[in-house]
Amino acid sequence: MGEFDLIRDFFAQQQLSRQDVVLGIGDDAAILDVHPGAELITTSDLLVEGVHFPQSTSAYDVGYKSLAVNLSDMAAMGAEPAWFLLSISLPEASESWLRNFCEGLFSLASECTVQLVGGDTVRGPLAVGVTMMGWAPQSQAIRRSGARPGDGVYVTGVLGDAGLALAGIQNEVWLPQDIQMLLLITLNRPVPRVQEGIKLRGLATSAIDISDGLVSDLGHICAESNVGAEVELSLIPLSESYMEFAMPVFGYDKAVSHGDDYELCFTVPEEKEVQFTGLYKEFSVPVTRIGAITEVRDIRWIQEDGNRATFSKGHDHFPDE
Ligand code: ADP
Ligand code: MG
Repeated sequence: MGEFDLIRDFFAQQQLSRQDVVLGIGDDAAILDVHPGAELITTSDLLVEGVHFPQSTSAYDVGYKSLAVNLSDMAAMGAEPAWFLLSISLPEASESWLRNFCEGLFSLASECTVQLVGGDTVRGPLAVGVTMMGWAPQSQAIRRSGARPGDGVYVTGVLGDAGLALAGIQNEVWLPQDIQMLLLITLNRPVPRVQEGIKLRGLATSAIDISDGLVSDLGHICAESNVGAEVELSLIPLSESYMEFAMPVFGYDKAVSHGDDYELCFTVPEEKEVQFTGLYKEFSVPVTRIGAITEVRDIRWIQEDGNRATFSKGHDHFPDE
């Protein structure tokens, strides 16, 4: 199978076709009909085997996750995702691997109505880069920089399950097999909070997706907004599995420092919190208020006894030597 057969037989086989794709895969570049009055919003994430996912990860999950992490960035901007490019480096042209990869990729793509419009295919160590494009009405995308003192700090879903799953794989903690299996699904198939992100437009003053852990990601919101935050640890939403298996070993550490959960963290101004409480009941995921933005420019993690806790930052590819 040559490079062009591979593109034709796999990547050009998505069942979905959007009306705003004037020209998709097959030419030197794609042509997209950008909505008048909208701002184009783009993001790119690269997943490398052995760095972002263990070698044992299934092709389906690699396909799913490489798209999911980019959709999650779109969600954090309040953007509506539309099109994506796929740059892939493959050690070999294995048909069964490619079939499963495309199944994972295209099942999520269909769910979110996003179309693959081009990319690049090369031979090399397994790495998958997705560039996602979407849009939001002018000036309505949600940035990291808008948080103000007094705003409530919220997160979607539960935190720490992805970190617990990885700890299980790496034998840092014992997990019953059925729990390990369920947690692995959470780790490999994060649900991008796209619809929630869109609903937060005009309400949230800032938002980020939790890819590197709350310590790091809420840290980005605070740094960009020139504010601090106070978070009540006991309010952080945790799963039953986390409470039972992670809490005795790691405390809150996996929930706030690990990341990979791809939930949203965002801030809502005090005067809109009542309106927001009505709105988030319609979300397909629970939303929890975990603290508030402060003028003091550091993040205080408050324990149940009222004392402060400290945590390490999440993963950094280029930590200070
Ligand atoms: P060029 O040499 O002009 O860059 P390529 O041979 O790389 O063209 O690609 C041919 C067509 O296939 C282009 O439309 C390109 O966007 C598309 N394509 C290549 N690789 C992928 C991929 N992994 N996913 C989707 N489309 C791809
Ligand atoms: Mg090319």
